[in-house]
Amino acid sequence: MNTNDYIAQVDQYSAHNYHPLPVVIDRGEGAWVWDVEGKKYLDMLSAYSAVNQGHRHPKILRALSEQAAKLTLTSRAFHNDQMGPFLKGLCDVTGFERALPMNTGAEAVETAIKAARKWGYEAKGVEKGQAEIIVCEQNFHGRTTTIVGFSSDALSRDGFGPFTPGFRVIPYGDSDALASAITPETVGFLVEPLQGEAGVVVPPDGYFGRCVEICRANDVLVINDEIQTGLGRTGKMFCGDWDGHRGDIMIVGKALGGGVFPVSGILSDSDIMDVFTPGNHGSTFGGNPLGAAVGRAALEVIQEEKLADQSNDLGQWFMGELKSINSPHIEEVRGRGLMIGVVIKDSSGTARPFCEALQQRGILAKETHEQVIRFAPPLVIEKATLEWALPHIAEVVEGAAVAVG
Ligand SMILES: *Cc1c(COP(=O)(O)O)cnc(C)c1O
Repeated sequence: MNTNDYIAQVDQYSAHNYHPLPVVIDRGEGAWVWDVEGKKYLDMLSAYSAVNQGHRHPKILRALSEQAAKLTLTSRAFHNDQMGPFLKGLCDVTGFERALPMNTGAEAVETAIKAARKWGYEAKGVEKGQAEIIVCEQNFHGRTTTIVGFSSDALSRDGFGPFTPGFRVIPYGDSDALASAITPETVGFLVEPLQGEAGVVVPPDGYFGRCVEICRANDVLVINDEIQTGLGRTGKMFCGDWDGHRGDIMIVGKALGGGVFPVSGILSDSDIMDVFTPGNHGSTFGGNPLGAAVGRAALEVIQEEKLADQSNDLGQWFMGELKSINSPHIEEVRGRGLMIGVVIKDSSGTARPFCEALQQRGILAKETHEQVIRFAPPLVIEKATLEWALPHIAEVVEGAAVAVG
């Protein structure tokens, strides 16, 4: 089978819920992937930041195969010897007292919502059934019915109702809007410290810190969704660190699985986490020994290889280089660390043809929404690789090369 055959097969047998670039990948290593025709590409998406450690990191693969040879799944009906060491590592890295493991990001977001609501009833004394959680416009927290119910993106939401009540949407980046939206029933503020899926939207300086102060003053939990921004992506271990805060509940996922296995979770101190008691929440695969072993190795790689520092150093330099590209098509270049968005002007069409032209040159970047090209390579990328990519990116966004086939 060739590229077109593989794509046609998926078109025939799958739901059409994605619009991928027309490339079929069959191998990856570090920051690079290869397609079924043998062509080599630089991965500038990193599976939406789930591959921060690079494709097939040897240490993570070793943890995977050693654990797979011993034990993969017990369910939480029994204990396993991998979950404790993993959760201790996660608490050590994040500074929280407790961690509750899940699998995908959306499940961890749901877990955080449940924790905040129960905390609201039991600790804050909110009247039964009245708990409210404030969220932001343009948020992305996953795809469950509850989560898309408070999305402001029509494409994510329309046709999937009726939705879970108890959410209020305010503008992103506006801490005054948060202050005036809080009521006695507000139990949590669910926020991304930098919005990835919205198109790498960086809030005003100090925004996250001001939100934390407002929530503290009103006995409202800050639920910090670091699923995409966390684990080094924005140039700090967590994006909230730019403001010196990690929230009351922090949600992690994506790169926690080292690019090989879905591993997510929520973190909090015991006063919040202890609202969960036997039987009121769970997951068959959450805390499974294979995921736990992988998650522990994934965390160690980020620390040992100082990937947050690498992201900060390379990101600052790379964003400077992107900003110095003189193109009539670029509206703005924005981001933090190696999470960078190049915004294409409305008058220049959408970002998609630029991504297709980059693909022709061996660079895989994906448009997010209509106008933004996201550059978020694996954090293990070398400076020389970015130096190779820059002239290609410059030529493509300068427009002369958009039609290259
Ligand atoms: C990807 C993402 C999620 C959802 O994670 P899944 O593993 O796809 O369910 C939630 N929040 C943010 C900020 C994300 O980027």
